[in-house]
Amino acid sequence: MGYFGAAPNGNLTFRLNTAAGSRTIEAAEIMAGLKQRGLEMPVMLRLENVADERISKLNQSFAKAIADAGYQNVYRGVFPIKVNQQAHIIENIARFGKKHSHGFEVGSKAELLIAMSHLESKDCLIVCNGYKDEEFVDLGFQALRLGFKCFFVAETPKEISLILERSKHWDLKPMIGVRIKLATQVDGHWANDSGDRSLFGLSTVQLIDIVDQLRDCEMLDCLQLLHFHLGSQLPNIRNIRDGVTEACRFYLDLIGEGAPLGYLDIGGGLAVDYDGSGSTVGSSRNYDVDEYCIDIVESIMALLGPEGVEHPVLISESGRWTVAPVSVLLFNVLDVNRFSPLPMPETMPEQLHESVICLLDTLKAINARRLQENYNDAIYNLGEARKAFRSGIVSLRERALAENICLTILHKIAAKVPELTRAPPSLLNLGDALADIYYGNFSVFQSLPDSWAIDQIFPVVPLQRLDEEPTRNAIIGDLTCDCDGKLDRFATLEAECKTLKLHELAPDEEYCIGVFLTGAYQETLGDLHNLFGDANVASVRVDDDGELQFVHELAGDSISDVLSYVEYSPGEILRRFQDLAESAEQDNCISRDQRQQMVAMFNESMSGYTYFEN
Ligand SMILES: *Cc1c(COP(=O)(O)O)cnc(C)c1O
Repeated sequence: MGYFGAAPNGNLTFRLNTAAGSRTIEAAEIMAGLKQRGLEMPVMLRLENVADERISKLNQSFAKAIADAGYQNVYRGVFPIKVNQQAHIIENIARFGKKHSHGFEVGSKAELLIAMSHLESKDCLIVCNGYKDEEFVDLGFQALRLGFKCFFVAETPKEISLILERSKHWDLKPMIGVRIKLATQVDGHWANDSGDRSLFGLSTVQLIDIVDQLRDCEMLDCLQLLHFHLGSQLPNIRNIRDGVTEACRFYLDLIGEGAPLGYLDIGGGLAVDYDGSGSTVGSSRNYDVDEYCIDIVESIMALLGPEGVEHPVLISESGRWTVAPVSVLLFNVLDVNRFSPLPMPETMPEQLHESVICLLDTLKAINARRLQENYNDAIYNLGEARKAFRSGIVSLRERALAENICLTILHKIAAKVPELTRAPPSLLNLGDALADIYYGNFSVFQSLPDSWAIDQIFPVVPLQRLDEEPTRNAIIGDLTCDCDGKLDRFATLEAECKTLKLHELAPDEEYCIGVFLTGAYQETLGDLHNLFGDANVASVRVDDDGELQFVHELAGDSISDVLSYVEYSPGEILRRFQDLAESAEQDNCISRDQRQQMVAMFNESMSGYTYFEN
């Protein structure tokens, strides 16, 4: 998408645009800056210019579609805070969004407080979704009183009576919205959440109930906004068009019922092309932001025009698209586990178990025309050798020999598979099974939770040596001791792969990898698996003079931070250890110096980083 590239020296580059032009920064420059500031890997790198550019691009695309089509109203975006609530991101969005009157969508009291304290322009909208208690509603009335256009979007008919009651209390007229459930089914990961069974939104029966409630108390003029949200990451533009068309039917009929409306909120769903395929698979999309805006504007005009209904203010709640490219997870590789056999011993032990003899025979007999048979023999005889080990017939050393011979056979077979015109399916994946494991200094669960939870694909790219053909097939393991703590689905230009091509590590080289498009949902949804905490954060920006600046640094969680998240008291933990060391000294297990040294180390660890430190 143009934000990332490669320099002739093989360094990965970031292209950051400013009002004055664009500047290309090499990853090495950023890595050096991080080192100077004492920020160890892993680091969540945020690119401020990208946030600015995305918000502008979304607003410009809608503005252009509106102008080109002759749409008779404006676009007003709102950023859904749940997509990335980190303070620095929200501050940036409020600041960059101001010139476009870009507001916030909130789904809880906490998020409403963030919106109320960050928006600078009264032209910005606040859209309150989610179930609302009295306090939530009362806070919204304060935003209204300050002059913000703050909408209460009703999720249930019950909320309406609460809003009306609080409206009397505050003597303020509410701006009410309704969230409708569309019958339109969508493709992609959230397909099951669309349609009649979607968790959110009003059924048509409930919608009519709300209209009647409002009319009965002469408050129908407060019904100003119609909202729907088809789900996130919608890969297929046709579903979006269908959804807008269906929503416009609701819009027309609600006008017919006497509601003024005037605002149409099409929710989120604008998708990111994580795998670069431009297709309707879940990790991609078959449209771009310009087409998205044009299709929406035209669909609305096509329905409302013939009925002579005024065009509404058009609202979208695009979160993923706006912030995904803002963050990049950077980590270093700590070690590699290769599934390569050791060289065969020159002389074999005299007494070998039958299974090991068979393995040696298979090794000699490998033949491109009989690879499947060779493979079957190797797997069978390895099984026999392990069985014999369990019965005490084969020793540990002999078992190791058997495993090494089998691995040698599998590598030889894998090397010959590409020679076959029609390889047996069981052999096609053999290369994946023999791939290296590169151990990365990060936690999938903390920094890339969707990779684990919903098999989300992210672009994964080394930060250096991009001018050099990578020769190793690898998957990437993380620091957690969980067998799910790995990256083993990657997008390549041709297809999705189970392994990624990486370079052989060079001695004394710090080999670093970037995981891109991680700005949406990942920082928020991450958890404390194995008590790995938040990574260090650094924000960079290129200013209008083309200078790279490190604008914001935030140390990740310390060990005592994560311990306190799971209800330990760091002081209490230290006291317990001190007592233990004290009594060990009294029992003459350790000396006084040793005790002091131990307690100092313990104390220092408590304030240290949760990840691997150099
Ligand atoms: C999550 C959510 C969004 C954000 O959707 P994206 O696909 O990330 O743009 C918007 N609106 C509502 C109501 C949501 O729940």
